Amino acid sequence: MPEPQPRRACTRCGRCCASSTPSLQLQDFRLVNNGMIPRSALYTVRVGELVWDNINQRNIPTNQELIKIKEKEQGTECVFHIPYPSRCTIYPQRPAQCRALKCWDTTEFEEVFIGPKLNRWELISDPLLHGLVREHERRCSYKQLSRLVKEIPEAGEKAVEEIIEVLRFDTGIRPFVASKLGILAEEIDLFFGRPLRTTIAMFGLQVIKEPDGSFFLTVRK
Ligand code: SF4
Ligand code: SF4
Repeated sequence: MPEPQPRRACTRCGRCCASSTPSLQLQDFRLVNNGMIPRSALYTVRVGELVWDNINQRNIPTNQELIKIKEKEQGTECVFHIPYPSRCTIYPQRPAQCRALKCWDTTEFEEVFIGPKLNRWELISDPLLHGLVREHERRCSYKQLSRLVKEIPEAGEKAVEEIIEVLRFDTGIRPFVASKLGILAEEIDLFFGRPLRTTIAMFGLQVIKEPDGSFFLTVRK
């Protein structure tokens, strides 16, 4: 039997596109600025949010902001990936990490990956939006949320109330900004990150919205 030959070229099987999405490097700015990658296909991972560490195989809080391409609902597959037959709908304009990814040799990918990342501040030119994003970060940072969650065992209801206040602000500012500044609802996660009502699961908590619009915080099942 002949020895199987090591892979030397991409077969476009799409396995990488089905298992994760790239974060954007600074060199991808042009793609977003020119609309080749629409803002509605992106979201920000904010400082302190948990991200998967491939090397140590565990979730760790990120110490720098990232912009990622969205995954298809409740999965890991890139929104630009069409599985059968496998293809990328933005292939000529795919981001730097996708261009560098060769599953048989990670050298080029690692070189690109350690380069400067694109972040949302590079994409915000409107000073009003800039101020609102800053205020959101001041009131709803993951550092703040993490501190309040740690205080629950000692401070009890007081800490829970403060967390609910953070959740209210995070939930309320999104439709407000969309309607006042004429931003598409689908673009909001790029400017404010994913809703805390969803990502609070990383702290082992779950938010239930009551019929009267109020929030109820509970331990995640
Ligand atoms: S890089 Fe590898 S996993 Fe990704 S499409 Fe090409 S052959 Fe498939
Ligand atoms: S942008 Fe294209 S190449 Fe990159 S992960 Fe998505 S489908 Fe794959």
